[in-house]
This record gives sequence, C-alpha cells and structure tokens, in this order.
Amino acid sequence: MPFQWTLNPYRGCTHGCHYCFARRYQTQFELGPGDEFSSLIFVKVNFPEVLRRELDKPSWAREQVALGTATDPYQPIEGHYKLTRRSLEELIAGRTPVGIITKGPMIVRDADLLVELSRAASCTVCVSVPTVDEDAWRALEPGTAHPLQRLRAVRTLREAGINAGVLMAPVVPGFTTQTSKLDATIKAIADHGAAFMGANVLYLKGGTKDHFMGFLAHAYPHLVERYERLYAGAYASPDYADTVRALVGILQERHQVNRRTRKVTVTEPEQEEAPAEPDQKDFRW
Ligand code: SF4
Repeated sequence: MPFQWTLNPYRGCTHGCHYCFARRYQTQFELGPGDEFSSLIFVKVNFPEVLRRELDKPSWAREQVALGTATDPYQPIEGHYKLTRRSLEELIAGRTPVGIITKGPMIVRDADLLVELSRAASCTVCVSVPTVDEDAWRALEPGTAHPLQRLRAVRTLREAGINAGVLMAPVVPGFTTQTSKLDATIKAIADHGAAFMGANVLYLKGGTKDHFMGFLAHAYPHLVERYERLYAGAYASPDYADTVRALVGILQERHQVNRRTRKVTVTEPEQEEAPAEPDQKDFRW
C-alpha cells in the first residue's frame, strides 16, 4: 500500500495494544505513552469537512490515501462520531483511492461505502490480526475484538467483493512467534478467505519502547533480558527477523496465502486440495 497521504480522524486509541507505535506520539502533547494513550482520545470533529475542502482543490491529483496509519479509525468511539464513515463518503465523492488499516470489526458497517469506493476509485482493507492465540491476544491487545471476530470481518468484506486481507503485524517475540501459533494464525487467515497477507516483526521506538519494556517488567519479567538483547536498537536483530520472515513464508506456502498477490474466492476450506507439506524450521531467540 504505497502512500504519501494519511488520514487519522482520532488520536489515541482505546484498543490499547501494548506494542502500538503511536504511543510515542502522545508525548507531543505532554501526555504519557501508557494509560493516557488508551484513555484520552482526541476527536477531530471537523475532519470530514476539512477533508472535503482538500479533495475539492483543483490541485488534488487523486493519489492513494491511507486511512488509519497512526490510530484505529474503527475504534469504539467511531460508533458515535462516524468520522471515518463520513470521510469515506467524501473520498468516494472525490474519487480518491484508499487503503484502510484497522483492528475494528466495525468496518463491516461501512461495507456499502467500501464497495462504492472500490467502483469509484479503488479500496484495499488491511485488517490487523497479529495472532489467533487467545493468551497472546489478551496480554497484548486488551481493548480489541477477538481475533476471530476480526477474521470474520475479513470474510464478510471479501464476500461483498472488497479487496480485504490481513496484516499479521506485529509478530511479537516470545508471545506470537512459536511455530504452532504462527501456523494456526496463517491457517485461520487462509480459512477466512483473505485476499492477501503481510507480516512484520515488532519494532520498538521512543515512548513505545519505554511502555512495552515497563509492561514486560511488570507482567513478564522473565522476558526482559531477552528483549534487551534482541532490541539493542529499535528493530529486532536482523538474523532473528530474517528467521521469522522465512518461517512465515514457509507457512504462507503451506496454507496458500501469499503476500498481496493472491485473488481469493471464498470457498469452504475442506473443499480445497491439501497442499504438500513444505520443510519447516523452528528457531530460538
Ligand atoms: S488498534 Fe492500532 S492504533 Fe489502536 S492501539 Fe492497537 S495498534 Fe495502536
């Protein structure tokens, strides 16, 4: 999803994922990256009106726009303000191609607009599902909908004809990286008819790193030392990240879900021919 323009109707996110990279931006308002990120939500109430003015400018070249790059456009408060829905109406009128990223199953509410947008310009939806492992989900993403609810949203969008896939991101060392968990997640992504998938290993910067390390120290102290070794900087060590990527690639082949290239028709998984078992390796960190 290449883009130069981003739209975020809200700032802060009640989904409260402990790894969220946007936590560090709260410090620009002299707020902390912890509870003040997940409990204080800035609502840009005139967002659709400002967007319309920008899209109406003769200079607007209808470039690709990304919606939800910093905070979730379908977090619960959207149910009240409908800023994302009203923004989609403006983007349709402006025939502007859009990519959306969200963890909110509320996106199915707007399937009608997403279909319209697909016809008027183009629309790609990336639903973020880092794992289907329940313990990891509860630990890492305390305010989000159940992963399978998100995957059912992907299926619903696909059945409506929308180009919807899954970002298995971030892959979180020690929480979601066990081979069995990666395998179960990628299988579930395939079973729900995702049109594509992508995966990224966790990165930790600034206030996000401070918050995440504090979370580990409080709830998972046995992981702190390993994280300090793995994250000397913002990114996991290259060897580790390469190993995760290789394993994810093998599992994508196993379950026949490829990176943003596969056009999926929704079929019952048991009707599909079982793919051959590829080689698989486990890894340590
Ligand atoms: S849903 Fe997205 S924006 Fe919201 S806390 Fe989680 S990672 Fe951050």
